[in-house]
Amino acid sequence: MSLTSRSLIGVIAFSTLMLGGCAHFHDHRHGVSHKHVADGEVSKPKGIDLSLFAKDAFTQEPIIVDCETVEGTKTTCYQFVTNGAPAGRTPGPFCPRTTSDGADVAGAWFSKEGTGDLVDITGEFILKLGDYYGDEKWMVYDAKSNKVRYTATKAACLGAAKPDVEDEYKQNCIECELSYLEDDFSRTFLIPTTPIPAAKPSRVRTAGIALDGTELSGSAPIDAILGAYTIAAFDDCGGHINVHQGYHYHSAAGCTDKSDSDDGHAPLIGYASDGYGIYALKNAEGKAVEGLDACRGQTDDVRGYHYHAASPSENMFIGCFHGETVRPSGPEGHPEGGPLRAPDENQS
Ligand SMILES: [Zn+2]
Ligand SMILES: [Zn+2]
Repeated sequence: MSLTSRSLIGVIAFSTLMLGGCAHFHDHRHGVSHKHVADGEVSKPKGIDLSLFAKDAFTQEPIIVDCETVEGTKTTCYQFVTNGAPAGRTPGPFCPRTTSDGADVAGAWFSKEGTGDLVDITGEFILKLGDYYGDEKWMVYDAKSNKVRYTATKAACLGAAKPDVEDEYKQNCIECELSYLEDDFSRTFLIPTTPIPAAKPSRVRTAGIALDGTELSGSAPIDAILGAYTIAAFDDCGGHINVHQGYHYHSAAGCTDKSDSDDGHAPLIGYASDGYGIYALKNAEGKAVEGLDACRGQTDDVRGYHYHAASPSENMFIGCFHGETVRPSGPEGHPEGGPLRAPDENQS
């Protein structure tokens, strides 16, 4: 094929796109709902809408910086800097204090089925942990005082909120406070300004960033947590604190939902590390979306490619990254030494 005929085909394709655009503009003027992308066309990645983030989600105004993806693509990224606290909300409560506490004064945890809603960590739940997990060794309370054993100090938090739980902190309900973070604690997220579809999906480390500026975490090391007879308690929003990630979510419990359309689609909860939107599982009618790909993504005319979060107890937000991501900045290894692993695999 000659260069000239290639160029000609290019011009024809371009003209067709232009006509498609005009036709939709025409439709729109006649009251047909507006679509960003014509049916059948490959949807253009939409990218991040900064206006959807909560006020005070960031400690610095987001800027655009040069970045390179793990796959080696040089591109531009939003640089988000946060202080590890959810904007507009005080985290907690997490662990109940006595075995008679109700759901209103305590948080939540994954269901043992690994699906559906979170379960409330009531005092009764603490009492029945042995039955719940089918292991009578569970004993996260003092039988005399009926006080729940929980991590009440920074030292206890540090000793317990990691996979290799120190012996003295086993049999504990784990909770940590934002006050345990270093004074200069900050997190930096680099997310491509325009999502780049990857040649092949990749494994999720940090899933992304919630609209309140905190991390949508990779999976919690649930076997290590339960194996130490600990509960890494969430608050009712599905998040908890450690000194490495700050406050971070393991579950989409609805606390950062924000609707970005009026078409009945599920609300946005945040953005994945590859820049695609992560939406809630259920649409405006309360119906869970269906027909997702392995990454929990789908494509529609309004949003282009986007994800829908897993149910709250599934210990994940998305199944894989559809797009290219940038390796997290800062030390990648275990903060206290040990083998190099992704940050998400080190902490609860
Ligand atoms: Zn959708
Ligand atoms: Zn965690």
